[in-house]
Amino acid sequence: MSKDEQGVVAGGKRIPSATVLWTAGVAASPIVKMFGADTDRAGRVIVGPCLDVPGVPDVFFVGDTASVVQNGRPEPGVAQAAIQQGRYVGRLICARLEGREPKRPFRYSNKGNMAVVGRNFAILEAGPFRMSGFLTWLIWAFIHVASLPQLQNRLRVEFQSLWSYFTGQRSSRLISEPPRTVD
Ligand SMILES: Cc1cc2nc3c(=O)[nH]c(=O)nc-3n(C[C@H](O)[C@H](O)[C@H](O)COP(=O)(O)OP(=O)(O)OC[C@H]3O[C@@H](n4cnc5c(N)ncnc54)[C@H](O)[C@@H]3O)c2cc1C
Repeated sequence: MSKDEQGVVAGGKRIPSATVLWTAGVAASPIVKMFGADTDRAGRVIVGPCLDVPGVPDVFFVGDTASVVQNGRPEPGVAQAAIQQGRYVGRLICARLEGREPKRPFRYSNKGNMAVVGRNFAILEAGPFRMSGFLTWLIWAFIHVASLPQLQNRLRVEFQSLWSYFTGQRSSRLISEPPRTVD
């Protein structure tokens, strides 16, 4: 696929467009394949109700490595699902070490969705509630930093974010850009 100012060329066909959006799913780490369990098309292990592997009760998969189906629908590969699954399995292991069995299977609770749209602007959706704008962007930043484990990670990310915000510099880049020429 190639793109220019007029659109994209995909499969040998030109699609004219002023705006080009790219989306991609999240695939599981290839290390998951080494386990040899059944996986979905994204390479995630199809887990049981307690996030364990059917037939191997003491092995668990969580987050992007786990394919969790609830009410007949796969749960999304997002951070809040990974956090909830990690907490569930942590508590389950503790319970088993104390000789107890988990009271209930894992249930994903969708707390809502947020996305940043450019600088200083974010959108939030939680059930029927919706908001957007600068305040939402501040809430987004707070929730993301507060969700990080350990104080030192929170402080480091906060410092890096403030540095990028005020200087426009990034500490790392995934996509390199060609040097800009001055006309
Ligand atoms: C570009 C992008 C944007 C996203 N945006 C959002 C968003 O806005 N909101 C949202 O909720 N979710 C978002 N997600 C999805 C979210 O990041 C994941 O669902 C979430 O991080 C899954 O958590 P995890 O712990 O399962 O995996 P990860 O967070 O990927 O953690 C896995 C860890 O394992 C390490 N690891 C991998 N292989 C090995 C190995 N062999 N040995 C040792 N360590 C290893 C990795 O380095 C990594 O640190 C985004 C994902 C991508 C790729």
